[in-house]
Amino acid sequence: MPSCEPRGDDDLVVPPWKIKVVELIALLDPRERRRALVEAGYNTFLLRSEDVFVDLLTDSGTSALSQEQRAAMELGDEAYAGSRSFFRLERAMREVYGYRHLVPTHQGRGAEHLLSKVLVRPGQLVPSNLYFTTSREHAELAGGRWVDVAVPEAQDTTSTHPFKGNVDLAALENVLRAAAPERVAFVRVETCVNMAGGQPVSVANLAAVRELTRAHGVPLILDATRLSENAVFVKDREPAGESATLPGVIAEIAALADGAVFSSKKDHFVPIGGFLALNDDELAERVRELVVVYEGFPHYGGMAGHDLEALAQGIRESTDEALVRHYLSQSAYLGGLLLERGIPIVVPVGAHAVFLDAKRFLPHVPQTSFPAQALAAALYLAGGIRSMERGIVSGQHGDEPYDGLELVRLTIPRRVYTEEHLRYVADVVTEVFERRELVSGLRMTYEPTHLRFFQARFEPEGGEPFAGSLEPALASEPASS
Ligand SMILES: *Cc1c(COP(=O)(O)O)cnc(C)c1O
Repeated sequence: MPSCEPRGDDDLVVPPWKIKVVELIALLDPRERRRALVEAGYNTFLLRSEDVFVDLLTDSGTSALSQEQRAAMELGDEAYAGSRSFFRLERAMREVYGYRHLVPTHQGRGAEHLLSKVLVRPGQLVPSNLYFTTSREHAELAGGRWVDVAVPEAQDTTSTHPFKGNVDLAALENVLRAAAPERVAFVRVETCVNMAGGQPVSVANLAAVRELTRAHGVPLILDATRLSENAVFVKDREPAGESATLPGVIAEIAALADGAVFSSKKDHFVPIGGFLALNDDELAERVRELVVVYEGFPHYGGMAGHDLEALAQGIRESTDEALVRHYLSQSAYLGGLLLERGIPIVVPVGAHAVFLDAKRFLPHVPQTSFPAQALAAALYLAGGIRSMERGIVSGQHGDEPYDGLELVRLTIPRRVYTEEHLRYVADVVTEVFERRELVSGLRMTYEPTHLRFFQARFEPEGGEPFAGSLEPALASEPASS
C-alpha cells in the first residue's frame, strides 16, 4: 500500500500539501550563465535570482507561505503600539515554546544583536557547539570571545554519529571551571547545527549542558532557529523521544534553556522575522530598553503587523510533524541520490540541506584557493543551480588560520521544490563530479571587513574561467531525467 511514511531512510514522503500559486523559472543558456557568474565575481550571493534556475542558496525566508498564513496576514494590526498582532504572536510563542517574554526583531541577527548587547561584556567567553556567522559576529562586536565546544564529530564529514550537534561536555566543563561565572557571558547551543551540516543535538546532551550551566551560574541560550527539525531527529534517534509528540519534544527542548534566539525565516515559514524569547524578567526589560533603539517598538520590533500574524501561524505550523517530516525527507532523498553516485557529502544527511564536502570533491584545489566557493560557481555554470559556500570564506576570521570544514550547501527551501527538481540537482552535481578536475581554484579580489562571504569577489586562479571546460558537455540539454 502506498504510504505517507518513508519506507527507507532515503525515501520521499508524499508532500502533505498541494501547490496553489506558482512562480515561473527558466534555465539561462550556458553563455549567459557564464556572463552572470563573472558579473557576480564568482560569488553566488551576488547573482540575480532571475539568472538562477534552481535556487538552493538558503532556506532563509524562501519558504512557501500557507493559505492560513496569507489569510492571517489580512488581520495584521499595524498599530505602532499595543498591536493585536503582537499579542497573538506572543500567545503562539508561549503555547509552543513556553517562554515568558517575547521580543520581536526584524530577523534572527536582530535578536542576536540585542542578546549580545545585554549579556556579553568585553573579554567574556561564549562557548558554543560550532559557530554561526552572524551569531559569532554579534558576540564579538560586543567584545566577547567565541569558544568552540562542539563534539569533534561535528567537524568529521564521514562520522555517522547521530547527534553531531552535541556539546563536548568535558570541553565545556573545562571552560566553565576556568572562567565561570564572571568570564562567561552565556553558553549557546544551536539546534540542528547549520555549520556542521544541519546536525541535531540530543535532549540528553542538552540536559547535561543545562546541569553544567546551572552549576556554574551561567545562562544557557538556544539558537532555536531549526528546533522543529531537531525535535524530529530526537523522536527518531533518542529512546526518550519515541513515544513523545512533536510539540512535546519541542517544548521539552525549549524548557531546558533560559531563553532562545530564533530566525523565523527558517522553521517558521516566513520571509522575514525573528525574535528573542526569555524567562528572566529583568533581562527581558533590558532587552526591551534596547529594542526601541535598534529595531522598533517592542510590539513590532522591525516587523509589520501582517508579518507578526504570518509568524504566529508559522510557529504553529512548525509543530506539524507531517510537514517537518516531508521536509526532512527531501534532504534525505537528495543526499541518498548523491551517495549512490559516490559523491562526497556530509553524513548523516542533516535537516535543511545536503552539504557537499569540497575537500573530497575537489582534492586538487587547496583550501587557500577556496574549493567550496569554486564548486558553488561550477554548479551554477553547469546547471543554473545556486548553492552557498560554507568553508574558509565563511569560516575564516581575519588572519586566523583555518583548516576546518569546506562545504557547499545545497539548501532546500520549505514547501517549494518537487522531486523532479531534486533529481535535476543530483544530475547536475553528478556531471560536475565527473569533470571535477576541470574546476580550478579561485583568488579573492575583494574582501569585505565583516561577514566577508556575503559580498567577496573572486576570479579563477588560472585566469580562464573553468566554465569553458564545463559548458560543452552540458550545453545541449540540462541533464534532466
Ligand atoms: C539564519 C540564522 C541566523 C541569523 O538569522 P537571520 O534571520 O538570517 O538574521 C542565526 N542562527 C542560525 C542558526 C541561522 O540559521
